[in-house]
Amino acid sequence: MKLENRKMEEAIKTLANWILESKKTLVFTGAGMDTESNIPDFRGKDGWWRKMDPRQVASIDTLYDNYELFREFYSARINLLKNIQPHKGHYILADLEKGDLISGIATQNVSRLHYLAGSKTIYELHGNIQTVRCNECQREGDVEDFLREEDCGHCGQKALRPNVVLFGEGLPMDAWQGTEKAVRNSDLVIIIGTSLEVYPVNQLPLFAQGRLVLINMEDVAIDYDFHLKILGKAGQVLENLDNYLRSII
Ligand code: NAD
Repeated sequence: MKLENRKMEEAIKTLANWILESKKTLVFTGAGMDTESNIPDFRGKDGWWRKMDPRQVASIDTLYDNYELFREFYSARINLLKNIQPHKGHYILADLEKGDLISGIATQNVSRLHYLAGSKTIYELHGNIQTVRCNECQREGDVEDFLREEDCGHCGQKALRPNVVLFGEGLPMDAWQGTEKAVRNSDLVIIIGTSLEVYPVNQLPLFAQGRLVLINMEDVAIDYDFHLKILGKAGQVLENLDNYLRSII
């Protein structure tokens, strides 16, 4: 069996050595990567999922059928993100890329925290919440207009929306293809903070040809053939990994 249940320290040393051995390493993140920046995830113990079902509100149907609710939900989420900062884990990932130890990040997160931390190669599989467009004329809009409940400045329609992928919509082709290629070409894929429950992004790790590692608070995704699981907080695990890497290189 590939799954190895090792103690945290030993597991972190193993991962550090695999990173050093690997020619190409991709990191794949989900909402759990951002909870230490105080952005709630969907399915963790304090997640939004417990309060409302995002599949109903963050959906293309709600955009068309109940625009006010849609705008209210996303205005709250955009406002929540206004004062949010990356945590040490985001910065460590950006530094690992600078040091050529990872080749890029594929993320389900819409927060842009990897970008703010300085990561360069980022595949935003679910878009981002910091920019908006008009759902009718597709031209770029102003986030502040969306928050002020204004209509599209170009076509006048009540259709401004964040550039996120809604339930019921397809994923951006460039991010999907870029991630698929990166997963296939990597000899190490490190998955951080995701329940791997959201389709179709949860199919991407299945293209992995090399080692597959999970860093998550809880044991999830039992259908995936992980070579190593490290159960813990993303920020703490990445800090320990970074300290160990620094001590050996
Ligand atoms: P999820 O909520 O389904 O799963 C998050 C997982 O991360 C859970 O298993 C949880 O136990 C774990 N986790 C929580 N805090 C952690 C931490 N500090 N360290 C390690 N693990 C931690 O999230 P998902 O799989 O990414 O799916 C949710 C979808 O909703 C995504 O597709 C995303 O687009 C969207 N979303 C994004 C954000 C964001 O941008 N930050 C936040 C919520 C939801």
